[in-house]
Amino acid sequence: MSRGTILDLCYLVAAVTFILALKGLSNPKRARTGNFIAMAGMALAIGATFFQPGLSHIGLIVIGMVIGAVVGIPASRMVKMTAMPQLVAIFNGVGGGAAALVAMTEFLGFGGQKPATYVTLEVLVGVLIGTVSFAGSAIAFIKLQELITGRPITYPGQQIVNALLGIGAIGLVIAVLITASTPLLWALLAVSALLGVLLVLPIGGADVPVLISLLNSLTGLAVAASGFTLGNNLLIVAGTLVGASGLLLTQMMCKAMGRSLPNILFSAFGSATITSSGGSQEDRPVRSATPEDIGVMLAYAHKVAIIPGYGLAVAQAQHIARELADELESKGIEVFYAIHPVAGRMPGHMNVLLAEANVPYDKLLEMDEANPQLGQCDVALVVGANDTVNPAAREAGSPISGMPIINADDAAQVVFLKRSMRPGFAGIENELLFNEKTTLVFGDAKETLTKMVASLAAS
Ligand code: NDP
Repeated sequence: MSRGTILDLCYLVAAVTFILALKGLSNPKRARTGNFIAMAGMALAIGATFFQPGLSHIGLIVIGMVIGAVVGIPASRMVKMTAMPQLVAIFNGVGGGAAALVAMTEFLGFGGQKPATYVTLEVLVGVLIGTVSFAGSAIAFIKLQELITGRPITYPGQQIVNALLGIGAIGLVIAVLITASTPLLWALLAVSALLGVLLVLPIGGADVPVLISLLNSLTGLAVAASGFTLGNNLLIVAGTLVGASGLLLTQMMCKAMGRSLPNILFSAFGSATITSSGGSQEDRPVRSATPEDIGVMLAYAHKVAIIPGYGLAVAQAQHIARELADELESKGIEVFYAIHPVAGRMPGHMNVLLAEANVPYDKLLEMDEANPQLGQCDVALVVGANDTVNPAAREAGSPISGMPIINADDAAQVVFLKRSMRPGFAGIENELLFNEKTTLVFGDAKETLTKMVASLAAS
């Protein structure tokens, strides 16, 4: 068997592992295995590439890999769960940037000779998409890291400017195709970078994770384009898989938020904090209680739904939430977790947190399974969630109108664990906080749950 055939076989096996990995990642039980399969496939692909005939600059490649590992491994190990979206943004950005650099290097390597038009086209697509993805991801990172405001940054005529830049970028692609001019290629790089920045600035912090998923899909396409450029089939397959899965994820997130992609990209959602005509949340009376009171109340329940949200991640309260569930179950009380698809700040955020605390998967009910059961619950315990249980989503004209929610208000009693009367990420007032069946326990969720467990154990 020739070296080329062995290499192709390795790439084929790697491509199959990527598909199997994606299948594994679609289910919390198999997600870890899916990750290991992907890692093994990637290791095989990288290892096989070193045996590619004609590969040169091996020393430089190894230095690049070492730098990547030295930066990437500690960053991934030390990142807090709440900062995961920005890590994904920056990792995605460097992927897009790398694809753009490959395309640039390839073009500059033509050495003034005009290559076939189709070769130039895939190179230019790589430059355009890769650079938009790099620049957009960098701004998304800066926003999520709160280095600049997370609110939409808008100015008059913004969409016209963006449209003109988009048309300009396509015009430059055509011009470079015709002239093979290097200065025009640099102009394309600059316009693509500006486009990436200006497309992301008007998107509000709450929508940035959806944008990251979309940029991730773009990076996949840029990588697929560099696969064509380099004649590497595995890059084409892997890039296409990332492109397609990123797009599907974007679509699922839009559905879970009850909004369309154009609305997310162009409506500058979240430019203002919205409050109802009932006045500011700070002014209106609410019922509050101590953690100890709620511990006693829970001891008399038959069925309890725990509804986790972003605050669970902030407080790192997943372990103590599990302890509470264990304590309830030891008293014969039925418990399940109701998981909203966009609870937290990234898809699967709650599943990952609760898996870390070894919560059994069969206790995690997705929204559609959980909602019919909430009517039978004595208590809906909302741990750091807000937008995902906000009944404003059921009202026409509300900014989150149409977003599916967990029907916490179907339970006999609703208990919110939060620190203040501040709204959730969407900045929208939540009437459920003022409902007569609602009790608020103010404080950090981890501390509150710790006291509740002690009180429940003593009841
Ligand atoms: P929200 O952002 O609506 O609410 C979080 C709540 O947690 C707040 O009420 C906050 O109140 C409370 N909180 C914060 N820190 C603590 C703490 N230490 N202890 C106790 N409570 C705390 O979260 P949800 O999960 O309900 O909703 C997610 C939001 O993110 C939605 O708007 C969704 O559309 C958006 N989003 C999610 C994506 C995803 O993929 N998951 C993607 C894109 C957007 P207080 O400050 O008073 O404590």
